[in-house]
Amino acid sequence: MNPGLITQSNELAHAGVEISHLSKSFGDNLVLDDISMSVKPGSVTALIGPSGSGKSTLLRCVNLLETPDAGSVTVGTQTIDAGTTIKDRDLLALRRQVGMVFQSFNLFPHYTVLRNIAFPQEKILGRSRAEAEERAMTLLERVGLKEKALQHPGRCSGGQQQRIAIVRALALNPRVMLFDEPTSALDPEVGIEVLAVMRELADAGMTMIVVTHEMQFARDVGDHLVVMAEGHIIEQGNPAEIMASPREERTRRFLSAVL
Ligand code: ADP
Ligand code: MG
Repeated sequence: MNPGLITQSNELAHAGVEISHLSKSFGDNLVLDDISMSVKPGSVTALIGPSGSGKSTLLRCVNLLETPDAGSVTVGTQTIDAGTTIKDRDLLALRRQVGMVFQSFNLFPHYTVLRNIAFPQEKILGRSRAEAEERAMTLLERVGLKEKALQHPGRCSGGQQQRIAIVRALALNPRVMLFDEPTSALDPEVGIEVLAVMRELADAGMTMIVVTHEMQFARDVGDHLVVMAEGHIIEQGNPAEIMASPREERTRRFLSAVL
């Protein structure tokens, strides 16, 4: 257990994710077709599949960056059902429990690293500037980037920027973390630093859904593997078992391309 990266361990122990009969179209392009999956509290689910299969859209539906057309998403005890009128209050309450890290970091370029991490805490959680910056410094220290606090993200390497993006999300005390190809834009040796922080987070009991092509990470850290193709879950189960003997031809093809 690492008290630095996660603070609300008791609460975290109870946050799972339930995705039930989720569908989403863009125009007449059906991108998610009746997706159901369950992420146990404190577990790590790796999500893989070819480009365009709907992985990013699924993650974006979990934190309601996209509104599903049908189905429901539950995070902890909070459910958003596309079949009912979604109240802003419920939407915000769910979103607040979910942190997200993107492939492209998405840091504010004109803010210092410290302000990047403190500002969302002030805005979203109403923390004082002093409190938010203290929390930011604690987390930066944990990931070995304290000395970057007063620099701008542009002065940091890609791997450092991604660790800052993770810290920025963690500073908001999420109960679930979503990662969308967090190392795809990084050189492999730099990606390792990011994967190490993610592994630490997983070991500390964070519930995580990780879209990744890092199959070693998926096997070593993942509790569950979900394989998507063309808006469907084509196969899911134990990562090592699926990698050793995939049931679906499309899984086999995808794995041979990334392994
Ligand atoms: P993946 O992350 O697996 O590569 P995505 O979820 O990004 O897949 O995309 C799935 C499909 O949805 C693709 O056909 C993509 O073009 C389409 N799509 C994603 N986002 C949008 C959007 N905002 N508007 C229209 N089409 C989109
Ligand atoms: Mg994607």
